[in-house]
Amino acid sequence: MKEALWWHKEEDGRILCTLCPRYCRMGEGQAGFCYIRKNVAGKLYSLGYGRPTGFAIDPIEKKPLNHFLPGTGILSFGTAGCNLGCRFCQNWSISKAKLDDAQSLSASPEEVVDLALRHKVSSIAYTYNDPVIWGEYVIDISRLARKRGLKSVMVTAGYITREARAEVYRYIDAANVDLKAFTEKFYHKLTFSHLDPVLDTLKWLKNETDIWVEITNLMIPGENDDPEETRRLCEWVVAHLGDSVPVHFTAFHPDFKMMDKPRTPASTLKRARQIALSLGIKYCYVGNVFDEEGQTTFCPNCRRALIRRSWHDTLEYHLVGDRCPCGEKIPGYFPSALAPSERQRGWSFLRMQ
Ligand code: SF4
Repeated sequence: MKEALWWHKEEDGRILCTLCPRYCRMGEGQAGFCYIRKNVAGKLYSLGYGRPTGFAIDPIEKKPLNHFLPGTGILSFGTAGCNLGCRFCQNWSISKAKLDDAQSLSASPEEVVDLALRHKVSSIAYTYNDPVIWGEYVIDISRLARKRGLKSVMVTAGYITREARAEVYRYIDAANVDLKAFTEKFYHKLTFSHLDPVLDTLKWLKNETDIWVEITNLMIPGENDDPEETRRLCEWVVAHLGDSVPVHFTAFHPDFKMMDKPRTPASTLKRARQIALSLGIKYCYVGNVFDEEGQTTFCPNCRRALIRRSWHDTLEYHLVGDRCPCGEKIPGYFPSALAPSERQRGWSFLRMQ
């Protein structure tokens, strides 16, 4: 067991975890809301450290990231547990599991990095459940990954405290933050968390770090797909993060405790994308549906299709370095900006598909 960071003892002897805004207080033998941080003999332990629930190599577009090493493969894994309680969780078999239920594996940071190098991917994703709750493991892997030429990606709900975030993100290169809705009511009722800390994390990531950021909004019919809510979300993004942060609107499918809702119609995502574009967001995508236009990166200057995609596949790639042939700079981190060996590593994954 790995002793946790970010905690202290309260006057009554209980432990206060300061990693996420839930601030769980734990008596002897108790675990927090996330299941994988536990008070054992008066110390807090990170039970998820070194205990992944399985690995996959995904296209990076599945995270989703469209402006960070597009077309490359990424080693992806998570652990058991989660610090949110989303009723619509699409990974609930691990996020709602305790370590034993999830039949966790054992892998040291060195073994994870070796695995990524052996499979010739360019980056590692901390994903599936929220990696915030295994921040100690994230730090140790991402530090080593950076030393050995690999990038690190957080796929997260952004529910982390100010006290912990600088350390957890120290060696992270990119993040996709799930902005689940733009109302406190949704966050409170359907995720058992709060909106404001997520907005605070987004502002910090974009304005106070060099980490590349994209945003995902999973649209659930009748819950967060009101065009007025989408408009307010997009206006907030432009005002606080700028017009160049890519926004992904993705389709919900019935899962976990939300089996009574239909799948999100493609028309809802198209409408959201049009709202975002009309409000000045330059790069807006739709996901979990077939929509080539909604998955293509267009030059905001000449409107040329620069990276044409279908679902997660890259069909065409016309960037020259990080520019459109017309000269417009496209924000992000593109393969041709990497050393040739890394570029080769990334694109070879595409050929394997
Ligand atoms: S990380 Fe886990 S134990 Fe710590 S406050 Fe959040 S939910 Fe509670």
